[in-house]
Amino acid sequence: MAPSRALPRLNLFKDHFQLHDHTLNNTPFSTERSSIAAFIKESESSPEHSRFYSTSLKLFDSKSKEEALKEKEVKMSNQEEHAALLIPGPIEFDDAVLQAMSHFSESHVGQPFVNVFGETLTMLRKLFQTEDPASQPFILSGSGTLGWDQVAANLVEPGDEVLVLHTGYFADSFADCFETYGIKATQLKAPIGDRPQLDEVEKALKEKKYKAITVTHVDTSTGVLSEIKALSELVHRVSPDTLVVVDGVCSVGCEEIAFDEWKLDIVLTASQKAIGCPAGLSIIMASGRAMKRLKARKTPPGSYFGSWKNWLPIMQNYEAKKPSYFATPSPQLIRALHTTLTQVLSKPLSERFAVHKAASQKIKKAVADLGLKQLASKPENQASAMTAIYLPEGLTPPQILPTLMKKNVIFAGGLHKEIATKYIRFGHMGVSVTDPNRKDIDVAIKALKEGLAEVGYTGPK
Ligand SMILES: *Cc1c(COP(=O)(O)O)cnc(C)c1O
Repeated sequence: MAPSRALPRLNLFKDHFQLHDHTLNNTPFSTERSSIAAFIKESESSPEHSRFYSTSLKLFDSKSKEEALKEKEVKMSNQEEHAALLIPGPIEFDDAVLQAMSHFSESHVGQPFVNVFGETLTMLRKLFQTEDPASQPFILSGSGTLGWDQVAANLVEPGDEVLVLHTGYFADSFADCFETYGIKATQLKAPIGDRPQLDEVEKALKEKKYKAITVTHVDTSTGVLSEIKALSELVHRVSPDTLVVVDGVCSVGCEEIAFDEWKLDIVLTASQKAIGCPAGLSIIMASGRAMKRLKARKTPPGSYFGSWKNWLPIMQNYEAKKPSYFATPSPQLIRALHTTLTQVLSKPLSERFAVHKAASQKIKKAVADLGLKQLASKPENQASAMTAIYLPEGLTPPQILPTLMKKNVIFAGGLHKEIATKYIRFGHMGVSVTDPNRKDIDVAIKALKEGLAEVGYTGPK
């Protein structure tokens, strides 16, 4: 048997784990009340929901609905005090999203839940900016990694060739996943902090027929942003039968993705990153072209739980508000996702992307002012979701991260295997940047400045 890859992975994460000494620290919390109000209002427009929602409130007490809501809003700002979690996922969650998970147990084939699941799938179309009815959303219990499995099991067949664009750690793992299913993955690598250039991709696509090309939109190990629009245009021009697969686990919800306009075939993500929902859901948007590829398979999908032949009718039924069963979904997580998507879509997406970009620029400027460098050196390569920061010469993550923790901020250590001990990662997604009442980003910038000084860094020379 091949040696488990879980071991090196664990070693990489180990230092980070040890920092969690469960110190309870103070951080300001609040809730996007306007969004909740919109969510409740929207729920009320559906009779099924209104009955359901008011029942759930009545369960708590016999006060009027208004009173109960008011009380609930007060309770919603009641998260246990803790340091701000500013790693590239999981991110900080809004109180309303967490509250949605304390829903009483319900049947996964009962109409109220089926309605919520169906609405959630429809909201995903808006999130990915697709209006093509042939596009197909999937939500499966699992993490982002399950998205790789779904692509490898459903859209390519053993012996097929795929091209994996490498910007860091996650491309290695995606390639590894393909190999597990007997698919030949060729990696096109860029130097650390950079991305493969379009002319290199063009050359590679002309050398061999690839069934799919994969790209990591935001590489969470390096903070490198890939340019999806131009890449997709190139693929459609030089190799039109190649499916364009985007790993958007760290980008969907904070970096722009225009599924139809950019002619993407797959965008896969997970609940716990920029979408702002607890971990446990693998979320995918597939194009009509990708679904045709599934239908045209000569061999059955290489997975049972992950088979779209099993899940497609379920997703279609749910979206049509019809009860259906293949394997039990998590009603609580789906409710949390419904709540967070309702919040995200309550404002124009362009506004959300702009807010993330502005926060990111502010952080990147503060990093530069401190005399520190980013892994992603070119501005056009820099993600808005996170910043990967080289530590001053001689300083390692275990020396600085506990200091930051004492200042109520949790950053992540390095993840790119060649330089993991030389840098830290600062995630800035979701409510930490979109909720004006939160001071997470300012607190983090200040903590970084003071923390570095405390461990002896004297600033730019
Ligand atoms: C986090 C992440 C993954 C893996 O997601 P899990 O939920 O940890 O399985 C994959 N790709 C990228 C780009 C990520 O950031």
